[in-house]
Amino acid sequence: MSQRIVNEEEENGNLGRKKKEKRQEEQLLYQADLLEHVSDAVISTDSEFRIKSWNRAAEQLYGWQADEVIGAYLPDLVPMTYVDQEIEEIIADFKKEGNWSGEVKQKERSGAYVYVYASVTMLRDQAGRDIGAIAVNRDISDRKRTEEQLRESEERFSKAFFSHPTAMEIIDLESWERLEVNASFCSLFGYTREEMEASNVCATKLWRGETEAQKRAYRQIQEKGYIQNFPADLYHKSGKSISVLINAAKLELGKGNLIMVSFVDITERKQVQERLERAQRELTELNNRFQVSTQAAKVGIWDWDVDSDTLIWDDTMFAIYGVSKDDFSGKSGFWQNTIHPEDLQPTLDAMVDALKGIESFDVEFRIIRPDHSVHYIKAKGMIQRYDTGRARRVIGTNWDITKEKEAERQKIRARQLELKNKELEQFAYAASHDLQEPLHTVEGFITLLRKHYQPQTDDKSNEYLELISESITRMNKLIRGLLDYSRIGAQEEMTSVACNKLVKHITKDLSAQITETNAVITFKKLPQVKGYETELRVLFQNLISNAIKFHRNNEPPKVSITAEAVGEYWQFCITDNGIGIAPQHQQRIFAIFQRLHPQHKYPGTGIGLSHCQKIVELHGGKIWVESRPKKGSQFYFTIPQ
Ligand code: ADP
Repeated sequence: MSQRIVNEEEENGNLGRKKKEKRQEEQLLYQADLLEHVSDAVISTDSEFRIKSWNRAAEQLYGWQADEVIGAYLPDLVPMTYVDQEIEEIIADFKKEGNWSGEVKQKERSGAYVYVYASVTMLRDQAGRDIGAIAVNRDISDRKRTEEQLRESEERFSKAFFSHPTAMEIIDLESWERLEVNASFCSLFGYTREEMEASNVCATKLWRGETEAQKRAYRQIQEKGYIQNFPADLYHKSGKSISVLINAAKLELGKGNLIMVSFVDITERKQVQERLERAQRELTELNNRFQVSTQAAKVGIWDWDVDSDTLIWDDTMFAIYGVSKDDFSGKSGFWQNTIHPEDLQPTLDAMVDALKGIESFDVEFRIIRPDHSVHYIKAKGMIQRYDTGRARRVIGTNWDITKEKEAERQKIRARQLELKNKELEQFAYAASHDLQEPLHTVEGFITLLRKHYQPQTDDKSNEYLELISESITRMNKLIRGLLDYSRIGAQEEMTSVACNKLVKHITKDLSAQITETNAVITFKKLPQVKGYETELRVLFQNLISNAIKFHRNNEPPKVSITAEAVGEYWQFCITDNGIGIAPQHQQRIFAIFQRLHPQHKYPGTGIGLSHCQKIVELHGGKIWVESRPKKGSQFYFTIPQ
């Protein structure tokens, strides 16, 4: 019984052990299965680090199959380097603590590296002896690689940032703290990195206080996250002003609110730009001044491109040639067509010579304007040439010298006239002087004849003698008149002559004639003029006495003397209500000895008006008459004011 019991007990004991073993085995299988399915590599070794187990995750991680590695020495199979710690430190920790965990870099079967987070635990028996180790390794390659890439990219970024030729800074937008500056930034503004980094952007001396520009820049960065080519004037440490263009953009580094700001030094560019603008302004001003002065001087500018035969005229040219821009062809032929036929060939020859470089282009020619008026032109041109010497372009001037030419001609005419006048005066003087002698002789003999032969002479002879006597008197008058004429202008000094007073005196002198004819003379407010008083007296006297003398029968003369300012002259007018002058005679009455009537009707010498003309011309004025027969005459003359 007891045997059975024992046996039973044994049997029970056996049964229990078997059950237990089975349970253990099942548990091991379960654990092994579990190990097979965990995602971490689980490797167990003996105390000599020879591999005892190698799960599926280990196979996948290292590329070795379990049956290939069991018994292999683990450090040789997957050589490793420790990432954060020194090996001695790790061994010391491991030995002391019995476990270690940390990052390692291991070489897998193909030779590639894997990053692993390893947790290694020492297995010890009850006596504390090392019996093996178990490592649970998690593949962290992906994370590591991402980290590495990030680190590399940051490294690249910082390398690029620090060595970039553009001045740059990185700013924390929250605090406006300057986090980084690069070398170019330091050299641009003259500060060291230490001086600049961790400084506040707002407090920095770069900006010299918060300017309007800076405020605008801040606002835009905050609102839009960037600024582009923002112009600002900043300061170098030395105080020198630096003109920059600022660009800023937010940095997407995941490290808070950062912006990177770059500064492009445009000081020199700005100076060059300013110089250029100044030069441009000066050039424009110069051009304006040039245009104003050429227009004021009425100098036309022309520009002719020889090869393309393109002719350009400025506004003054059109005014000089009297043509409209619409009619202008822009070709040299247009200009040639305006030239007076007589001057065309010499002008073209001069141009050809100038193009050849024989002569400079400096000519005078006449043009015929579309209104048929002829104008004198002075033209000059400067030739621009190719390197070969061939003429490329001609730029020149034109100005209208018609007035000068006219003045020149008048001067010559006046000179000729003056000479002729002088000759005439000398002749008149000599003739009248010499004529007086024989006349006196004749006069003397007539007197003798009368005295000695009066009793014997009959009426007829007396009449003849009387006629001879009258002729001698008349001849005397003529000769005196001629002498007076030749003496006009002999007075040296011009004085201020009050014409009102002068005319008043003349009317007194003419009172006999005035009373005899019942003439009415009116005048008022006659001006003061500069002139030769004696001559002016003769002038007024001749005109007034003619106005009285040539009155119509039974019509008392009415004479008025007026004056008005016309341009630079005083224009006088002596108006009468007399017999008038037919148009065909109005010119010739001013010539010497020209009369329109016989002596017995209107006595006179025919010298009076020629005196008047000579006197007016002596004063630089003109004399003319407007008249209608039987209506009256207006004798006009001008005297410079
Ligand atoms: P004179 O008066 O001695 O004849 P003038 O030279 O003064 O010589 O005048 C020339 C001519 O001009 C006069 O003979 C006369 O025919 C004409 N004439 C001059 N003044 C007048 C006048 N106021 N009205 C009409 N005819 C005039």
